[in-house]
Amino acid sequence: MNDNSPNSWESRADAHSFYGFTDLPTIEDRGAVILTHGKGPYVFDVHGREYLDANSGLWNMVAGFDHPGLAEAAKAQYDRFPGYHAFFGRMADQTVMLSEKLVEVSPFEDGKVFYTNSGSEANDTMVKMLWFLHGAEGNPQRRKIITRKNAYHGVTAVSASMTGKPYNSVFGLPLPEFLHLTCPHYWREGKEGETEAEFTQRMAQELEDMIAREGAETIAGFFAEPVMGAGGVIPPSEGYFQAIQPILQKHGIPLISDEVICGFGRTGEVWGCQTYDFMPDAIISSKCLTAGYFPMGAVILGPALTDRLQKASEAIEEFPHGFTASGHPVGCAIALKAIDVILNEGVLENANAVTPLFNEGMARLGEMANIGEVRGKGLMGALEAVKDKATKTPFDGSLSVSERIANACTDHGLICRPLGQSIVLCPPFIITPTQLDEMFSKLENALKSVFSEVA
Ligand SMILES: *Cc1c(COP(=O)(O)O)cnc(C)c1O
Repeated sequence: MNDNSPNSWESRADAHSFYGFTDLPTIEDRGAVILTHGKGPYVFDVHGREYLDANSGLWNMVAGFDHPGLAEAAKAQYDRFPGYHAFFGRMADQTVMLSEKLVEVSPFEDGKVFYTNSGSEANDTMVKMLWFLHGAEGNPQRRKIITRKNAYHGVTAVSASMTGKPYNSVFGLPLPEFLHLTCPHYWREGKEGETEAEFTQRMAQELEDMIAREGAETIAGFFAEPVMGAGGVIPPSEGYFQAIQPILQKHGIPLISDEVICGFGRTGEVWGCQTYDFMPDAIISSKCLTAGYFPMGAVILGPALTDRLQKASEAIEEFPHGFTASGHPVGCAIALKAIDVILNEGVLENANAVTPLFNEGMARLGEMANIGEVRGKGLMGALEAVKDKATKTPFDGSLSVSERIANACTDHGLICRPLGQSIVLCPPFIITPTQLDEMFSKLENALKSVFSEVA
């Protein structure tokens, strides 16, 4: 597979480009896949091979890879005003309009928006906002941030500290003051004989105990993805948010919904907090915000945090934070168009229309002897491979089962992502029933061939 000749794209990629989050032995064997363009849900490599991208790029290219309206919105804004910041009381008209739109489509009655270039920076910004406002309110000891194991909140030093993945130990992270609760994954974490409702109660009790141990007066905020994405598509256990929110409220701890993946329809409703029926104090958005056509993140504060941050800022005459490209006018113009395309031009409607087919296909593959759990919500799902279905025993890590499945998929012209022992699927919202059939039949072939080798 790997074309090692010195001028091949694969060798040139190796020579001067770092790969993030990439299994280097796979690259050694197979070479990188170098892409040139896309069409609908497909991407094409330098050899002209076509791949159905069942991961929407990285969850974000929900309107496909060649949406004409989004490209036109970008071009029109580049022609009109190609760049500006949002410092010193100046900002582009597009930025004003996007903030109005985001507050309008948010679950909040009122609020304000702060822009970043990524989801990681949006989480970092939110943490700094909390530290800043608690300090200004005379509670500078309210510093600790609670998240969950397996959560993914990003890669900057603060957001990586929030991310509950063991790999962060190679950086000496998490930083002090970042605490992680048990992942609310009933199938994996539930105890023998424990019902799902009992499991949820145990998760809530663990939060109560952590708050009691640490002291509520030392805790700045609690962050959660409605459905954990990069943790392996893990929906919360039944009633999870209803169980934890009253505890947080009782102790004055803001609940921040990290909607970087769930926002803009991935779980069926516009926001994951709507799908799971809870009201956060703020929302973190990125990824689908621009349908992947521009790097942008946003913190959307609900009314209470807006007031508190406003007061804290007025006390020192500014909020001393911002990125050079925060609220970039081209990004904002694209986001305005993306929101319109997703919500009003049938993109989310299509996602919801094909979700029953997606669920059927997932359930069918879930019947295989080596699939232990099928899970998901809306148009995101995961299949977890196991050696033994009854005992939920995983395959030996050295077999790299999910990597092999993903590689076999690539060979069949399908891109999907190995995550732990799971395969993650989150196709673009524009996917058609025929393309979903193609996705499942390619995946089924890959699963069969790998399981026949390892089982
Ligand atoms: C991707 C992701 C982030 C980080 O976003 P980047 O743009 O990669 O920095 C944060 N939170 C969640 C839930 C994500 O999925």
